[in-house]
Amino acid sequence: MKKSLVSLFLIIIFSLVSIQLLVMPYFESNFRHPTEKWALEFLTSGSTNMLSKELQNLPKQQRKVYLQSVQANFGFELALQKWKKSDFSNEQNQWLERNEIWGEPLDDLAYLSVDDEQLLVIVKPNSVPKYLINEAQRWTMGSFYQLNNKLKQQPEDMWPSIIDSVRSDFKYDVSLQSLDELNYKIEDMASLKKGNIVTISSADSNFIGYPADIAIQRIGSSDKVLILGPFSSELKDKVVYMLTILYLIFGMFLLVPIILWLLPTWRSMLSLNKVALLLGQGKFDARANLVRFSNLNHLSKTFNTMAGKIQRLISSHKHLVNAVSHELRTPIARIEFNIELLRNSTENNYQLGQLDRIESSLNELNSLVTEMLTHARFDREIPELTFEPVELNEWIRQELKPWQETNPILDIILLEGIACHAMIDRFYMSRALSNLIRNAIAYGENQIHVSYNKTSTGWLIQVDDNGSGIPPSSLDYIFEPFYRVDQSRNLQTGGTGLGLAIVQQILDWHGGSASADNSSLGGACFILSWPTKLHNLKSR
Ligand code: ADP
Repeated sequence: MKKSLVSLFLIIIFSLVSIQLLVMPYFESNFRHPTEKWALEFLTSGSTNMLSKELQNLPKQQRKVYLQSVQANFGFELALQKWKKSDFSNEQNQWLERNEIWGEPLDDLAYLSVDDEQLLVIVKPNSVPKYLINEAQRWTMGSFYQLNNKLKQQPEDMWPSIIDSVRSDFKYDVSLQSLDELNYKIEDMASLKKGNIVTISSADSNFIGYPADIAIQRIGSSDKVLILGPFSSELKDKVVYMLTILYLIFGMFLLVPIILWLLPTWRSMLSLNKVALLLGQGKFDARANLVRFSNLNHLSKTFNTMAGKIQRLISSHKHLVNAVSHELRTPIARIEFNIELLRNSTENNYQLGQLDRIESSLNELNSLVTEMLTHARFDREIPELTFEPVELNEWIRQELKPWQETNPILDIILLEGIACHAMIDRFYMSRALSNLIRNAIAYGENQIHVSYNKTSTGWLIQVDDNGSGIPPSSLDYIFEPFYRVDQSRNLQTGGTGLGLAIVQQILDWHGGSASADNSSLGGACFILSWPTKLHNLKSR
């Protein structure tokens, strides 16, 4: 056990190291960085595009000065750089030539072309400017500044068309709304009226850990506000996709080694389960397989040793019963012979009476030995069986006839059901039924009801009596050889304790079973059931 836990621990460590060395670099370059690049380009989109257009309209020498003059209104550092195409990859150059932002998440910066020679560089410094209230403001303040400038120069009725003209610069939504249409918290409304940037969170922004979902600012002293966003829903989709991939990779790397570790153990469990079932069915030569790398091999070995011991025990028990029964035959025959000799040599009534009693006890002993030998033989080998279809109603009627004739004062009745043909070995099934009727007569009162039926899977015969029945605690053992419910009562009935064990053996050959219960007549009820499927029938 200790060994297998250590191996599991080592396997997990090995897969964690593999994830770190093999998978994480691949994940970072193929999933994490593209997502962060996309997020950087998405969030910087509006202000950088507008700024780049403004710079294009200025002569080159004025551009730097202009940038410095507006810097304080942006949440990033702004710079101009010569566009040395050799410093960039083909993909980057093509991207920039199309006037699209190129984000570099590892360096926290983004590029956008101003013209063929100059690039606008947006750097997100680590130090947060003092005037920033939160991270969302950093991303939106530049856009608000530029939009406000554009709008304030125009009459209010032009604002919607100005917003429409800049909408394509933004990768998220930009809209105008009246201040009195908004319904935010009192402190947010007061802050808005003062002209501050107000940021509003949502479930999506909380999920991705982004400080806001929309940002709002009043336009000058008008009653209109500019709304930027929502940002989070699109970001969330990307983050969810990235996390799903990450969890899948982690799951696979942990699950696969654990499954590989468990597989041999699982196979051992299946083998143990199968062997336990076979042992339960009396196949004592069944053994569990030892599976390579299984953690249950130790248990399988112990189980096999135990099964071997049970097999030897049962086999020696059978041999003993068989040998003793055989050995008893000869002295019984000799006593019988001597009784006959004695009977012929005396006319004394007392002695003749004693001889009768000895003979009756000897008969009991004789039938016990016969039953023991039969049981031992049945246990050793399945006899030649001949299964044939019999009409149950007719067959049972014939079987009951001798019992009814010899016991006229008893109520031995066949409860007739629908006609049905069952596959049985007449000889042995007749013996099973006889054993039940004999018991019902011996342990019952005066009523014995025999019935039969066809079920969806097979046939059954039921024998009920109105005797004292079987206590529930004995129901599980009643078919064991030599088991008897009440020893004193059995002395009167003279049974051997093997009758029901033989019934069980016969039903086993038919692929079925015998069971006992309490009867509605007040006594015991015995049911013989066997299946229609012929492949369950045991014949040689
Ligand atoms: P026996 O030769 O003792 O009858 P069986 O194997 O036929 O042996 O039965 C085992 C025991 O089951 C009996 O000793 C008896 O105690 C109990 N038994 C069997 N049939 C009945 C019955 N119909 N009613 C009550 N007890 C029964």
